[in-house]
Formats: sequence, structure tokens, C-alpha cells
Amino acid sequence: MIPVYQPHLTGNEKKYVNECLDSTWISSKGEFIEKFESGFKNFTGAGYASSVSNGTTALHVALEALQIGDGDEVIVPTFTYIASVNTIIQTGATPIYVDSNTHDLQIDVNDVRRKISPRTKAIMAVHLYGQACEMRSLQAISKENKLFLIEDCAEALGTRIGDKHVGTFGDIATFSFFGNKTLTTGEGGMVISREKKVIDRVNLLKNQGVIAAGEYHHACLAYNYRMTNICAAIGLAQLEAIDTILDKKRKIALCYDENLRGLPLKTHKEQEGTTHSFWMCSVILDNPEQRDTLRAYLKDNGVDTRPFFYPAHKMPHCASTEHFENAENISQRGINLPSYPDLDLDKVLEICAVIKAFFNKEEDAVNANRDTKRSSYA
Ligand SMILES: *Cc1c(COP(=O)(O)O)cnc(C)c1O
Repeated sequence: MIPVYQPHLTGNEKKYVNECLDSTWISSKGEFIEKFESGFKNFTGAGYASSVSNGTTALHVALEALQIGDGDEVIVPTFTYIASVNTIIQTGATPIYVDSNTHDLQIDVNDVRRKISPRTKAIMAVHLYGQACEMRSLQAISKENKLFLIEDCAEALGTRIGDKHVGTFGDIATFSFFGNKTLTTGEGGMVISREKKVIDRVNLLKNQGVIAAGEYHHACLAYNYRMTNICAAIGLAQLEAIDTILDKKRKIALCYDENLRGLPLKTHKEQEGTTHSFWMCSVILDNPEQRDTLRAYLKDNGVDTRPFFYPAHKMPHCASTEHFENAENISQRGINLPSYPDLDLDKVLEICAVIKAFFNKEEDAVNANRDTKRSSYA
């Protein structure tokens, strides 16, 4: 079976992890934490960076660092990974859903404008599947309405608008280093901001609210959301290979794009003026009824896939009776194909051949059906 994802771990990961073991610095103190944070800051162009235990705790601590809580509303796309919405609810705030664009799968900025109320405190932009949201418009809307702008960049390491990395447009941004993310530390996350006082607050909240290490004075209600030195060691090694990883992923995406042309589907195209990081190579079928049958056909032929996210407003714990036409539509039509950096281009061609064979078979079935109908008229 060709998996959807597997990490690229071919550099200094083992060496650095062994350094942690040899030095006994295996917990959340040690030299790799600072090295990884500083490398990450340089790669993204952020002002300040703070490592955390995963992408979900990154979002939670980011929201709390901005003091979002009871009575506040946070605007978020319903078409996203559930952690974006769950963490808003966990602060006591209310997620206000907005629809997405069908062309790039990102948050619909016109719908954002419509959903602003006196209670709105923040907009959470989620850069989905490696593509960038329209950050210039979202910046303008946030400024006009005095709202915080939060960027969930879990799926967007390497994504840029012009030369500027996503995560540097808003007030605070988060990343995930789960095993299937572009850079992985097993489990891990990062919070970045241009403002020192925001990251100081993240550091306080992720570390039990202690003011001075080793002294048990806790300044506020807080968490243990720290990253371990072992994870940071893996992260630093991954960061050394990030250009190779991104380059391999881009080649894979272009290969799919070229070899799936002419079929009744669309690939997730890079938008003008942006760099798509192709976290996932996605296809959006013209006919939603073929989605699950194509996935089953790929599986029978040894190719694993993932469906697009189901919109958050369809989940029982955060359901809404509102209707989001585009989100519901794209969610039913999307498939993520194998997208890991070490996937050979020969394998990509094989996968494309299986997809072509599926559509040929479907067409034959339609034709056969038409022929039977014709003969019955005779
Ligand atoms: C992966 C992901 C997260 C959560 O990250 P974890 O490290 O799995 O907790 C949050 N938001 C989005 C959009 C994601 O894809």
C-alpha cells in the first residue's frame, strides 16, 4: 500500500536524539529547544518563536495569550481541521463559522465581513492544504474593525505570499509538527509573533505560569504545553532539510498536475503571487458521487487516500443549522493523494494511471448503459 504520508528522516535526527540521550537532557530543557526555536524564527521571518507540545496546544495557548475567552466571538472557516474550532470553544469563546472559496479552498473574506459583530474579538485564518489565505484583505478587515488576526499555519510551512512566509501577517500564528506535517517532531508545535510581549505571555502560559524557573511562584492559571529537547532535536534536523523536503513535495505536486490533466477533476493550483507548499496533493472531483468509489478503487489498487475534512458545523459538539454551500460542496468532492517527500515520481505516475483507469471504466459503464437503453427502444 502506498501511504498518504510518511516523514522524511534522513538527516541528523538520530545523531541529535542520541546527543540528548548521552547528555541526559531528554525533558523540556536543553540546547536543542533554543536552537530549534531560533532556526524556525529565521526560516519564517518571525520576530519571536516559542515551541510547544503540539499544534492544538499551540492554538489554545495562542488564543489565551490574546486573552480571548468567555463572551468573545472568533471567526473561523467551517471547512478546517477540528482543532481550529475546538480550541476556540475550549477558551470559552464562540466560533462563528464562515464559508470558503471553491477555487483555492481558503476562507471567504466577504463572508468574514458579513459575520463581524460587536462581540467579535478575532479572525482565525487557516492556510489549508499548503495554500495561503488572502492575508492582505484579512489584515485590512482586522485593522478596520480592531480585531486580532490569528493564523493557523499547521498545514502551511513553506507557504508564502510574495516573499513573506504565512504566519507573519497576523498578531500570532501556530504550526504543527505531527508525523504527517511538512516538518515533524513526532508531536510538536510552534507559536510565532512579531511582538515580544505576546510570546512572553505564551512562554508563561505553556510553563505553569512560573515567573522564575525552579521557584514555585505561579503568576496565573496555566498549562504544561512544553516541547521536549528530544522533539526539538528532531525538529532542528528536519529544519536543516526543509528546502529539500519542500522541493520534493513541489515536484510531486507538479507531476500529479501534469498527469491528471483532461480528467473530470481539478488539482489544487498555486495562486498567483503565492508559493503553495503542497502539504497535501489534493484533487477535487467534478462529480461528488464518484469520490468514494474512486477512493475504494485506489485502495484496491494499493493506494491509500484521505477524504477532505468534513465541515466543523456538521460535528455534533459544535453543530450549527446554518448552511455553508461551498464548504459542504468541496468537502464532498475532495481527496488527498499520497504526498510524502520521498514518494518516487514513478509511483506518482502509477497513481495517475490508476485514476485514469478508474475514469475510463466509469465512462465505459455509462456508454454500456446508454447502449442497453438504445437497444430496448429498438
Ligand atoms: C494538524 C493540524 C492542527 C493540529 O495539530 P496537532 O499537532 O495534530 O495537534 C491544527 N490545525 C490544522 C489546520 C491542522 O492541520
